[in-house]
Amino acid sequence: MKHSFDKKPIVILGPMESESAWLIDQLGQRQEKSIGAYTFHEGRIDGYPVVICRCYIGVVNSAAAATLAITQYDPLCVIIQGTSGAHDPDLHQGDIILGENLVELGSFYTLHRDKGQGSKIFDWTQPGAEINVNKSIDRVKTLHSDSRILNIADSVPYADGIVRRGTIGAADIWNRELDMIAHLRRTLGTDCEEMEGFGVAQVCAQMKVPCADIRVISNSEWHSQEEFNEKYGEQCQMFVLQVIRRLIAEQTLM
Ligand code: SAH
Repeated sequence: MKHSFDKKPIVILGPMESESAWLIDQLGQRQEKSIGAYTFHEGRIDGYPVVICRCYIGVVNSAAAATLAITQYDPLCVIIQGTSGAHDPDLHQGDIILGENLVELGSFYTLHRDKGQGSKIFDWTQPGAEINVNKSIDRVKTLHSDSRILNIADSVPYADGIVRRGTIGAADIWNRELDMIAHLRRTLGTDCEEMEGFGVAQVCAQMKVPCADIRVISNSEWHSQEEFNEKYGEQCQMFVLQVIRRLIAEQTLM
């Protein structure tokens, strides 16, 4: 599968249909290419090449899609975007977090406990992800969205909530226990959680491709009426479209 773009495309990933279909509809000169279950929608926005993939839910799926996209397209950047659950009680549905810091919520070492001593989950420690930073292999607990992409995102007008930078946690877990949510926020500084960001950022760090995680709050356990609602996925895509348009217009990263 070789593409025929004249420039490095911008790659956008959205896990669910409700987090990708609207953006795919915005593509001009659309074509589809699939590798196994992963379908890449190639097209143009304002004349610039963009590839969008519904990468499916979870760290493994999204990291696989990011890896395929990087090897197939040599992209300008990869943006993972979609819905998330609030850890900060002050965040509400519709608010947008720009993932300045990205952390892992699913990689732990436990302490030894004897038979019958049970589990003390709040004592678990984090080893960090193995990343090869300029030929030295390190354990990294926090990754970052590319600051040039976030600078552009900072300037996008948005009427449906606040937009601010923050810390996004990711793992294949949906936390609903408020004591756990408060613990993660206290120990890792998370503002919200989802299931893909850190994995995509890890692949992008290993492959030296700029990356950004942009998330709308779609649910909050702190507020009983704020249950998960798919419609926020579309809201996030609309915001991300404005980010892409500005990246292209201002030739950021080019
Ligand atoms: N009810 C839906 C829920 C979506 S599953 C279903 O089962 O199909 C999880 C997806 O939503 C992931 O892609 C994740 O990134 C996002 N997400 C939104 N809120 C989340 C939360 N509170 N915790 C974890 N993932 C969340």
